[in-house]
Amino acid sequence: MASAPENTGSYTIKFASGEKMPLEMHKVRVVQKLNLPPIERRLEAIRDAGFNTFCLNTRDVFLDMLTDSGTNAMSDRQIGAMMCADDAYAGSQSFDKFQSAVEDVFGKKFLLPAHQGRACENIISQTFVKPGQIVPMNYHFTTTHAHIAVNGGHIEEILYDDALSISSTNPFKGNMDVSKLRKIIEENGVDKIAYIRMEASTNLIGGQPFSIANMREVRKVADEFGIILVLDASLIGENAYFVKKREAEFKDASVAEILRAFTDLSDIVYFSARKVSSSRGGGICSNDEELIDRMRELVPLYEGFFTYGGISVREIEAIAVGLRETLDESMISQSPSFIEYLVESLVADGIPMVTPPGGLGAHVDAMGFLPHIPQSEYPAGALAAAFYLISGVRGMERGTLSSVRDENGDDILSDVELLRLAMPRRVFTLSQVKYVEDRLKWLHKNRDLVGGLKFVQEPKILRFFSGKLAPIGDWPEKLTAKFREDFGESL
Ligand SMILES: *Cc1c(COP(=O)(O)O)cnc(C)c1O
Repeated sequence: MASAPENTGSYTIKFASGEKMPLEMHKVRVVQKLNLPPIERRLEAIRDAGFNTFCLNTRDVFLDMLTDSGTNAMSDRQIGAMMCADDAYAGSQSFDKFQSAVEDVFGKKFLLPAHQGRACENIISQTFVKPGQIVPMNYHFTTTHAHIAVNGGHIEEILYDDALSISSTNPFKGNMDVSKLRKIIEENGVDKIAYIRMEASTNLIGGQPFSIANMREVRKVADEFGIILVLDASLIGENAYFVKKREAEFKDASVAEILRAFTDLSDIVYFSARKVSSSRGGGICSNDEELIDRMRELVPLYEGFFTYGGISVREIEAIAVGLRETLDESMISQSPSFIEYLVESLVADGIPMVTPPGGLGAHVDAMGFLPHIPQSEYPAGALAAAFYLISGVRGMERGTLSSVRDENGDDILSDVELLRLAMPRRVFTLSQVKYVEDRLKWLHKNRDLVGGLKFVQEPKILRFFSGKLAPIGDWPEKLTAKFREDFGESL
């Protein structure tokens, strides 16, 4: 008997009304109850949190859109596989499955396991970065930057000039500017370059992808000068999905073929498995045994034995299945199609958003949303606090609060001031996304009520995680009163 072909397409379908909407291609079988406290409680909670969304407790949070790290939903197959884990210290069969998934998906024979993405960065930086060396990259991730700096290296970000403009039609804002790359190598000499790093779906600039055409150009330069090319594949699934949608040459290619095109162009691939529906894990892989041998000793030193690397065997099973599921377009398109839906509905209402929509989350331009708040009063932080207050939705500030001070104690103002609303995979429903849209539109209409923030307690390192702030003026109370006026007794 013939059976129906498995759905592998994208989530966005056409409704009879003519409207295009994302449709969930999964059903929910394990649920977690959510709590939406009244605005008066939310006002208390954000005050106790020092107007810093990192310091909120999830008891007070309705939709947690802080991050996609370790928060994606697991599939039934992943949970099933976790029950069959082989918990041997050495020679675990679970590791064999991890290794064969890496070989099938990334085409790399040798795998070093690590407890998460930044642990891979520790091993790679310790092995390949010498003091005074440079790592050219499309854009940094916070932990990448830190590990390269700890080893005495520094980074050079070589995006094209328009990559940081908020609204754009450039489909590949994550591309590396290859002429700048060449210039850096020629000016500093090959010996000064530790390796070249490409980050899929550049996290900090709005989940923006790079193209395969661009990666081929980068590869050419790497070959010409004999430099190692490292791919951070933590968010490669989304990047591959955007290539299929936006790079004409690959419109008929499968996600598997696109992924392989990226990894075949790389000497070393590493990834955080927290982004493939696991709460822990990562790995470094390559076909070059000599490169792997140079890193190998650090695995038992920092991570654990070669067949678990600090990851629980149950999670190793989940990662092996999760990696294979990355090849399913109907799975990896879920988050980008919800993000696109949200960004487009907000843009249509005149709300300034980072465009084109990327992976990871929807990014609101806080300087455009709150033009009356100077950067010295942290507009993105104020927007994150105000949005939590009026909705119970927790986003993350990505702006000057997440930056640092210079030697004179002045804030180094961030290039962009963003509120990131992360969209973990298969976690939220469309009505929840519509709630976010509705409340953000309401806040935009009432934006003049929102004021700035000032520090009252400022840690020296990574201040955005635990710093405490206070509102300038009594704007949270005014906003709360206006909410009650408009919504009555409603939550
Ligand atoms: C999350 C992430 C990392 C770090 O991974 P962890 O597992 O959180 O340590 C590195 N690079 C990118 C692009 C990421 O998104």
